[in-house]
Amino acid sequence: MMENNFIKCPRCESKAIQYRSGTPIALFFLIIGVLTLFAGVLFFPLWLVTIPCFFLFPFMFLIPKHFSCMHCKYTFKAEKNKPKQPGI
Ligand SMILES: [Zn+2]
Repeated sequence: MMENNFIKCPRCESKAIQYRSGTPIALFFLIIGVLTLFAGVLFFPLWLVTIPCFFLFPFMFLIPKHFSCMHCKYTFKAEKNKPKQPGI
């Protein structure tokens, strides 16, 4: 786990912050879609899972990047918590 020194949870001031984006979720949907596609050849009701997975996965890329506090589960947007650039 990478430790960060500049991002704090706005609610509980914890530094245990997890970075999240929609990309892993999109890949997860894609993998489930592909697996159920092939498994559906043998057991075709699985295609009821395949179709929504393929339909939804492109939208998961649209989930904005955000941070999630591991202590209080509070989520906040990355943009608002960027550290200020030090003036030279
Ligand atoms: Zn927190």
